[in-house]
Amino acid sequence: MTYGCQMNVHESEKLAGILQEYGFCRADGAESADIIVFNTCCIRESAETRVLGNLGRVKSLKDGNPSLIIAVCGCMTQNPGAAERLKKRCPFVDIIFGTHNLHKLGDYLSDLESKKTRVEIWDGENGSVVEDVPIARAEGVNAWVNIMYGCDNFCSYCVVPYVRGRERSRDMSVIVAEVKELVSGGYKEITLLGQNVNSYGRDGNDKGTNFAALLEKLSALDGKFRIRFMTSHPKDLDENVIKTVAASDKVSDFIHLPAQSGSDRILGLMNRKYTAKEYLTKIETIKKYIPGAGLSTDIMVGFPSETEDDFAKTLGLVREARYNNAFTFIYSRRSGTAADKMDGQIPYEVKKERIMRLIDLQAEIGSALASECVGKTYEMLCDEYDPGQKTGRGKSDCGKTITFGTDADRRGGFVRVKVTGAKNTNLYAEACEE
Ligand code: SF4
Repeated sequence: MTYGCQMNVHESEKLAGILQEYGFCRADGAESADIIVFNTCCIRESAETRVLGNLGRVKSLKDGNPSLIIAVCGCMTQNPGAAERLKKRCPFVDIIFGTHNLHKLGDYLSDLESKKTRVEIWDGENGSVVEDVPIARAEGVNAWVNIMYGCDNFCSYCVVPYVRGRERSRDMSVIVAEVKELVSGGYKEITLLGQNVNSYGRDGNDKGTNFAALLEKLSALDGKFRIRFMTSHPKDLDENVIKTVAASDKVSDFIHLPAQSGSDRILGLMNRKYTAKEYLTKIETIKKYIPGAGLSTDIMVGFPSETEDDFAKTLGLVREARYNNAFTFIYSRRSGTAADKMDGQIPYEVKKERIMRLIDLQAEIGSALASECVGKTYEMLCDEYDPGQKTGRGKSDCGKTITFGTDADRRGGFVRVKVTGAKNTNLYAEACEE
């Protein structure tokens, strides 16, 4: 059971790979499982509450089947004191392990003699990158590939550097070999993962490398496939990377660039290390080198002490950047972070009212941008097919989601389509050739 971000989704593929090596296969549901692993998240308080609620539900399964193994891992277990609290509250859990111990799941399974909960979490020492963990990848066109782990940025609202440690890059040669194998195996889209992909290589694991060099190497591989990446930190996205994206016919012309706020005062309190002007200059640079680039962002509303004037600046930034999509969040306190101790926590009603205004603005911009696509042609990668509706669905190179009419199941294929209509941010198209 996976909670949280794409990083966790991919790490669950590794947990599944380890379990397969130990002879397990996928169960139809929790009721028929011999082992249930909760791969947890702690970015929001609600994620933790959901895990505890679901653990309560599987307890009855364990009561009826004492040999059922229950394991809990991931970010939540790394929060200070969380593993001990979990052990006390849910003594029926067999194994609790942390973010850096994932590859040891097999060892824990081999050593389940005692009736006591086994707890092994990461002790805070910066570990090395562990390679050769088996991966049971989900079926489909996309494959996730980690290029680095951890984060050095310490944004004041975020727990990631505390629960996942400092930045550690994988060697470029290992990443290139993995992508080559995935492309030969039929994957059409490779998504490179890291908390801050733009600082790839800076930790010195593979000296002389950087993110632009990695993108160039991967672009030179044979085969028809698309490269995407997430997430970029605005302070580290440099012109070199933008030019490389522009020059490559394999790297998607889509950039997710979390702004978080348009107020310099709030950005300072968030410890984001850029100003709104610097951020917008990066957006201009992207648009200059990659005309037609798709853009998305993350915006956080109601950070401690955010005034109406600060929020107006955020709306101004959103208007200027003109994103195709924005992921909007209400700030929620996380213990252990600097922001949790800040004065001026904003009442929920105020945050809710602000986020509604932001959502309305973004919907207006997204719809306007979608309308501008009508009449244009795009190459898209089809990853869904609805035989009832006779429609295919997928994303264009610039990240636009497009639905098109087709009698054939074209999943895994690149299709040229002409956009015939737009509704909100959804695009409808016809295939240029069948
Ligand atoms: S860049 Fe900031 S928000 Fe992103 S993972 Fe690192 S600390 Fe968290």
